[in-house]
Amino acid sequence: MRILLDADGVLVDWSKAASRLMGVDDSDPVIRAKLKSAKDVVGIIGAWEDIYKVIDKAGESFWMGLEKFPWADSLVGALQGLDCQVAITTSVGKWAAGASAKHKYFAKAYPGLPLIITKAKEFCAGPTSLLIDDLSDNLKKFEAAGGLIYHWPNQYKLLDQDESVVKAIDDIEKIVRTVKKML
Ligand SMILES: [Mg+2]
Repeated sequence: MRILLDADGVLVDWSKAASRLMGVDDSDPVIRAKLKSAKDVVGIIGAWEDIYKVIDKAGESFWMGLEKFPWADSLVGALQGLDCQVAITTSVGKWAAGASAKHKYFAKAYPGLPLIITKAKEFCAGPTSLLIDDLSDNLKKFEAAGGLIYHWPNQYKLLDQDESVVKAIDDIEKIVRTVKKML
């Protein structure tokens, strides 16, 4: 069985870094409440075009400076313990510096994990491939292409403990165990 793990919003805090660049305080209670209920943090932080401009200007340093979430290592460790093939699957977005910087970042952060950089994650879909992602659009496409999905909870809900990381990891383990039984 294969597990494809999204990076931004799941392993690393893209939203916090992008907010900072845009001059948005993601710890402000009103903004944070919006970030928690939004389908995508883009839109709350700013318009795509504007975010594109500031990240492009920051270049590689933006990507290399992304902070890992406090749960990132335990999530990766738990998945690696499930006797599956695990890969990080991340979109490069629109940014020219993104692909090479992401490659450099993850080669250092998780040297044991293959890195698949693509916007078209559904190309990796299949009956024994599970995508863990925080964006419903990615999940919908992956599922439509015949893959299994797990909707990773909103990062701000996890950070504020409105939702439980332990439960999320437990739910993923249950899915994997169920699928493996059928193989
Ligand atoms: Mg994501």
